[in-house]
Amino acid sequence: MPLPSKNRTLQILNAAAAGKYGVLAAIAYNIEQLTAIVRAAESKRSPLIIQLFPSTLKQLPTLAHAAAAAVKSATVPISLHIDHAQDEAHIREIMQSLPVDSIMVDMSHYDQAENLEKTRVLAKECHERGIAVEAESGRINGGEDGIADTGDLEALFTAPSDVEEFIAADIDILAPSIGNVHGDYGPAGPAEGQLHFDRLEAIDKQIDNRVLIALHGTNDFPPEVLQRCIRSGAIKLNVNKLILEVWNVFLRENAAKMGLVSLIEEGMKVLQVETERWMDICGSSGKA
Ligand SMILES: [Zn+2]
Repeated sequence: MPLPSKNRTLQILNAAAAGKYGVLAAIAYNIEQLTAIVRAAESKRSPLIIQLFPSTLKQLPTLAHAAAAAVKSATVPISLHIDHAQDEAHIREIMQSLPVDSIMVDMSHYDQAENLEKTRVLAKECHERGIAVEAESGRINGGEDGIADTGDLEALFTAPSDVEEFIAADIDILAPSIGNVHGDYGPAGPAEGQLHFDRLEAIDKQIDNRVLIALHGTNDFPPEVLQRCIRSGAIKLNVNKLILEVWNVFLRENAAKMGLVSLIEEGMKVLQVETERWMDICGSSGKA
């Protein structure tokens, strides 16, 4: 079943693909971060995808509803996406009970055949509810998923056959594995040659606009590396620590000397400014 064209996440990403810019898919862990990134989108007139982890939905059950309210009241295009949903029962609960626009159905902890079959079934159920689906092809290494380092990185990269198989499973957004990792690269970002831009470009060419590309694992990215990924075809840019670190640092440095209300207010300002900076870097500022 094809997805209705009014899906917010896909509208945002299709516009970005046509306009050749990237869109931040920014993780929020609480209402303050959610508010700051939405304020950044409004002030920069930029599209934005709000991302929540399944663990956050359990920790803060009302946050998805707050995010949905922000999506609805915003004067710029914003959507709500659930990142790395790995539990089938939870995915079904999310699609049936929460006002989300898209879900990353991450079955990458199963072998390829089972991964594809589970993805296909869940994608159909999501589409019936107007929800877009992202999936990870290959396997992106790192701790965010709780996946152990296998020491055989080459086998984890996205191959051309993976791309076709996932498109056949009827997904909307593909998160390829091109040397990107979940977790930290180190202060200087990815090492020279660690990210395979040629592989990303080949995947983009092979996809030929049939699905959209999401880039995971952007911690420590210098601006020019993110821009290179966008030029190579990545449109949805998953960001977590890349943007949130300023909030963490601000709270750590000021928690003992500021009152709680000003700490939160000033922290939100710092995070808004940082989000705006990355919207400029992605080229999404002024595109809403
Ligand atoms: Zn990820």
